[in-house]
Amino acid sequence: MNLLETDSAALLAAVRRVLIAKGVLTDAEIADRIAKTEQASPALGARMVAKGWLEPDYRALLLEDGTKAAETLGIMIRGAPPLGVLENTPLVHNLVVCTLCSCYPRAVLGYPPFWFKSAAYRARAVRDPRGVLAEWGTLLPDNVRVRVVDSTADYRWMVLPQRPAGTEGWDEAQLAAIVREGDMIGVTVPDGARLREKTLYPER
Ligand code: FE
Repeated sequence: MNLLETDSAALLAAVRRVLIAKGVLTDAEIADRIAKTEQASPALGARMVAKGWLEPDYRALLLEDGTKAAETLGIMIRGAPPLGVLENTPLVHNLVVCTLCSCYPRAVLGYPPFWFKSAAYRARAVRDPRGVLAEWGTLLPDNVRVRVVDSTADYRWMVLPQRPAGTEGWDEAQLAAIVREGDMIGVTVPDGARLREKTLYPER
């Protein structure tokens, strides 16, 4: 453990003690939240995407109220910031970033990947989104507008990607299986180029 991790762990322990002492939270509530986050994974978001591709009513609910759409599938958002869903279209591609820190739709995607938290991604997603996308192998036509959306402590965002051609007749499980974490943040599109995250965002 390096010095930074030691300091962070000590700070975390101190904040927990104060919150519990002041009656803001209980130990059980903290344990419950940790357990919920550990259970979450991109498979949950992928299920929402697949259902949205198949069912127009569910797609409408996704875009209208992401929190409700998640909870309809038994994915509990309660206590976490509300979830918004951004729809990619033939003319608009959404890219999600937390410029400040690492705000991520944890309830539906699990823990944020290390590259999402990296200073390089947080800065470059805003400064040069097309450059970042190109490095992920996501090459968009010039007429597609790239919209960069800031994920914050007040609102978490995920992307509803476009359903790829060649998936006609697939069922929900087949569709969910091709939706990756990066597709729901917007760095990649389903069936796009393979992830090259390790070479692009080396761990500090
Ligand atoms: Fe953040």
